[in-house]
Amino acid sequence: MRKYIRTVLFAVILSAAVLFSGCSEPQASESTVNFEAMDTYVTITVYGDESEAASEKAMDEILLLDSRLSAVTGGSKIYNLNQKKTATLSDDTVTLIKEALEISEATGGAFDITIYPIVKLWGFAGGDQHVPEQSEIDLALAGVGSDNVTIDENTGEVTLADDCEIDLGGIAKGYTGDMLMEIFEEAEVSGAVVSLGGNIVIYGDKPDGTAWNIAIEDPDNTSEYICSLSLAGGVSVVTSGGYERYFEENGVRYHHIMDPKTGYPADSDLLSVTIISKNGTQADALSTALFVMGREEAVSFWETNEEYEFDMVLMDSDRNVYITEGIEDACSEDDFNVLRK
Ligand code: AMP
Ligand code: MG
Repeated sequence: MRKYIRTVLFAVILSAAVLFSGCSEPQASESTVNFEAMDTYVTITVYGDESEAASEKAMDEILLLDSRLSAVTGGSKIYNLNQKKTATLSDDTVTLIKEALEISEATGGAFDITIYPIVKLWGFAGGDQHVPEQSEIDLALAGVGSDNVTIDENTGEVTLADDCEIDLGGIAKGYTGDMLMEIFEEAEVSGAVVSLGGNIVIYGDKPDGTAWNIAIEDPDNTSEYICSLSLAGGVSVVTSGGYERYFEENGVRYHHIMDPKTGYPADSDLLSVTIISKNGTQADALSTALFVMGREEAVSFWETNEEYEFDMVLMDSDRNVYITEGIEDACSEDDFNVLRK
């Protein structure tokens, strides 16, 4: 069932023309919807004449992609693929899976959608969260690896090895953000901001013409922020961190971002990774991958992989913050370590 609240506000733009001529400008509308999807709380705010229709279309798209891409929801295309090991998927979904496999290769397997048996084993797919036996981890790891996924380009048929299951949880929200950007562009809205859990999408302009301000959560205290970024529309800002979802057993914290090499939560020296990119799909996959890699490898990935254009904010376990040069001026703090190529 759809649960959402809608608020529609109308704000009169007081332009110089209004003040001097006395005749009013057309009204600019703002429309906000809140609802739950993709295992998180979603807020969409759209500005412009078509804001109401566009925010509704954006919501429908999120619900549709959730029902298609979730590995947890019974009956979704991905759920069925995991059960039956073969399925013919839409072009869009095949393209997303191919992109996920490419990023897996580029990140040396730090990002890997075949991680699902491990995610389930630790109880991060809605099950009982606990530390599994090593023998169970070894068994689940047998199905992990991109070579367990085969795609027939001509038919769109995806086939998984017997012990393989896929999980698009580390990339689906970023991809959804890219689809929303297209919806906003088609609807010719003036601006929009979407919050999808750790993913923020900003599009176009704010009604007052100022830059969008995106605050980055403090991983040690999520009601505080480590900085804010002042950004132009057209980018996704995606954060991954062990603090976002975890459980504790015998005083030890176990989080939801898994190292595909060990089958354990990634033993990362990072508390959080934020990726800023025009490509939300890449931003999402990379935020997960660079968290798994840890600081040194993450920095070297940014330095050497020219085909992935992105900026980032890293916070390490000593609370040192690193930002890439492209967002130096956008960042509200000036005492962070700036990474330069
Ligand atoms: P994110 O919040 O984007 O970092 O994604 C984390 C989610 O992606 C987890 O809840 C899992 O569903 C899935 N996941 C966990 N570890 C990995 C990994 N190494 N590669 C790809 N997906 C992962
Ligand atoms: Mg991710």
